[in-house]
Amino acid sequence: MKFGGTSVGKPERMHHIVSLVTKETEPAIVVLSALSGTTNALVEIGEHISKGDRNAAKQTIDKLEAHYQDFISKLVQKPEAVAKAKSIIAEHFEFLNIILKISFSEALNKDILAQGELLSTKLFCVYLEEQGIEHMLLPALEFMTIDSYDEPQVGSIKVKLSQLLQQHKDKKIYVTQGYICRNARGEVDNLKRGGSDYSASLIAAAINATVCEIWTDIDGMHNNDPRIVKKTVPVERMSFDEAAELAYFGAKILHPASIWPAQTYNVPVRLLNTMEPQAKGTLIEEKAGSVGVKAVAAKDNIIAIRIKSSRMLLAYGFLRKIFEVFEKYRTPIDMITTSEVAVSLTIDSSAHLKDILKELEPFGTVEVDQNQTIISVVGNEISKTEDMVKKLFGSIMNIPVRMVSYGGSPHNISLLVPAEYKTQILQQLNKGMFGLE
Ligand code: ADP
Ligand code: ASP
Ligand code: MG
Repeated sequence: MKFGGTSVGKPERMHHIVSLVTKETEPAIVVLSALSGTTNALVEIGEHISKGDRNAAKQTIDKLEAHYQDFISKLVQKPEAVAKAKSIIAEHFEFLNIILKISFSEALNKDILAQGELLSTKLFCVYLEEQGIEHMLLPALEFMTIDSYDEPQVGSIKVKLSQLLQQHKDKKIYVTQGYICRNARGEVDNLKRGGSDYSASLIAAAINATVCEIWTDIDGMHNNDPRIVKKTVPVERMSFDEAAELAYFGAKILHPASIWPAQTYNVPVRLLNTMEPQAKGTLIEEKAGSVGVKAVAAKDNIIAIRIKSSRMLLAYGFLRKIFEVFEKYRTPIDMITTSEVAVSLTIDSSAHLKDILKELEPFGTVEVDQNQTIISVVGNEISKTEDMVKKLFGSIMNIPVRMVSYGGSPHNISLLVPAEYKTQILQQLNKGMFGLE
């Protein structure tokens, strides 16, 4: 059972999730995110320190500490619990204050970012203890590891986690941190923003859980981005493939990589609403509920690169050479379309853009369009849906589409559009494909 930032972000919400956890008949591993707003504040602290602005960092630390003092004053009441909660806060904020005096490094920044999940889980356990609820805190830093390519080491996670569970096998409630892990150098690291979903799925896979529940602030995966489009509806069932495409292409409810562990080990995933536990939510499993379009999602900050060359005409090996450049800079390609004399592809990271462009130059004319958005229309066997293409393109005729990718998977059609059209295209698709206004 994974609870996201808003699900633990207020004392009364933490109280509430205890009622959800204790309802379970089977033993549960409870994976917690940091309280909402905390990771953003920690990112800010790291940025201030890296720029040498220690005063601004100190101010953010103090503000965050005040927030936690207020939080525990409503979380726990009994004197021993209050004392414990206070000492947890003191320990972690002392750490942050010490960091102010140390020279900045990326490794140190990861330590800063880890404080949120360490705090939320420890405070949650103090509350469980106050309530007399038996539980066990499993430190994620003892079992969640990534390799030198930042890939989770599922085999090792499995072994270490089962050893820990074996040592405490009488418990029914285990609590652990989402997001944080150790890297190949043994340092504290993380699974990138929104990574608690990924932790939950990895844990569910590692223990072969009966289900991986992602409890959040909305009643499941909606057909469109509810932050942008007014009228959206939850999708009751979808396949792992569909959910993976949506997560990867921008549906924020799931971390982009969070589906594969559950899918590989065939653990069903349920997306549920902490604020409305009786709502059906979304069930994600191997088989899709039905054929047809399920949802659309948008992924921002995309860079499109077009390489034009008459040498590509009837040549072989051209694409391999181009792909090798991206491989060299470990930059994943999201979309690709080709014509006889040009290839267009997209990346979502500008980290090595300069080097990539320099190495692409010898292959032909290179054009770059920054600030693009991928719009993905996702659904099982999407092409078999009657009128799908007509509905899709019919509803967005006024929008300049830069690229189209169709047929790569049977579950997805992706369109690339300039970012300024994102809201408009999501709204028009909502009407055109789902009949929702
Ligand atoms: P948590 O803190 O629980 O991890 P997130 O904020 O990461 O929660 O994810 C939940 C949010 O994802 C929702 O509040 C919603 O605004 C956003 N979201 C974006 N796309 C979708 C979608 N297709 N379906 C549901 N929620 C979505
Ligand atoms: N706390 C982390 C973040 O805000 C991880 C998560 O919430 O999933 O990104
Ligand atoms: Mg999230």
